[in-house]
Amino acid sequence: MIPIAKPIIDEDEISAVTAVLRSGIIAQGRKVEEFEGAFAEFIGTKYAVAVNSGTAALHIALLAHGIGEGDEVITSPFTFIATANSILFTGAKPVFADIEEETFNIAPDSVTEKITPRTKAIMLVHLYGQPCDMKRIMRIAQEHGLIVIEDACQAHGAEYEGEKVGSFGTGCFSFYPTKNITTGEGGMITTDDKHIAEKARMIRSHGQRERYLHEILGYNYRMTDIAAAIGLCQLGKLEDFNNKRIRNAKFLTGRLSGIKGLLPPHVRPNVKHVFHQYTVRITQDFGISRDELRAKLVDEGIATEIYYPRPIHKQPLYQDLGYNEHLPNSEKAAREVLSLPVHPSLTKEDLENVVRAIQGI
Ligand SMILES: *Cc1c(COP(=O)(O)O)cnc(C)c1O
Repeated sequence: MIPIAKPIIDEDEISAVTAVLRSGIIAQGRKVEEFEGAFAEFIGTKYAVAVNSGTAALHIALLAHGIGEGDEVITSPFTFIATANSILFTGAKPVFADIEEETFNIAPDSVTEKITPRTKAIMLVHLYGQPCDMKRIMRIAQEHGLIVIEDACQAHGAEYEGEKVGSFGTGCFSFYPTKNITTGEGGMITTDDKHIAEKARMIRSHGQRERYLHEILGYNYRMTDIAAAIGLCQLGKLEDFNNKRIRNAKFLTGRLSGIKGLLPPHVRPNVKHVFHQYTVRITQDFGISRDELRAKLVDEGIATEIYYPRPIHKQPLYQDLGYNEHLPNSEKAAREVLSLPVHPSLTKEDLENVVRAIQGI
């Protein structure tokens, strides 16, 4: 079976972890600090704050900006649930803007329509590894005095006009095993703002700057040195991993273009898309349904996945909260998307098998 995702863990990660275990300092310590420094340098921000998940990064980013009850945060409904849930954690209200049809990312026009006097921030998602339309979003944010939080959990190393995502607003990353790099579980916040970085560090560790002096409400969102040691190894390989994803995506698009009812991903000309996912649309013209296609690919030993089958405003949790709007592009995307394997450990033969299996239908 060709899996949809596969973390690449080599001997260097194993020996780095072993060294941390032998050192006796296994919770947050020097390795975490080293990982933060290396990650900030990679993204091009002054600060990076390591945490224990992407969800924690999003939650902390909102809290560090003072977002809470009475505030509205505009976000995409076509993403992993953590994006919107992190807004709920703070007591603020997620407000969903629709997405662009071609990129699956939040549509700037729809963001503008959703702004009210209560809007405090835009939490955008660089979905599948493709940057959002940052020029237009940053302009909207500036005009309306809004904070920008980037959910870059799928976009480590992605660039918009040569600048890495996570450096435009407050960046949030995840290191879950399916992501472009992993630490097992883990996350990171990136920022140029010293005050936000300091506040994030406090919230990460029960609101303390000084040991046992608790100035604000915080959590235990700390990363371990064990995870950071893995992260440092992985960060060194990220460019290589991303280059392989991009190469695999190019191969797939080259071979799958022109198939009726199958639309390969659209890549904007001014971005570096790092292909966390390679996501096609299967329309009615394809002949068989998306689910039938998935079943046939399983028979050929190829795993696929639907990210995401139900937009967040249609989730039971959100229906119970009273969300009942219609966001047509998000709902259409949920019906049509299918992600094919694109991860760096695919062989040429794997890729050819994927193409052959689809062409044979
Ligand atoms: C993975 C992911 C998250 C959450 O990250 P965790 O590390 O699993 O908490 C948030 N947003 C998006 C878009 C993601 O893909």
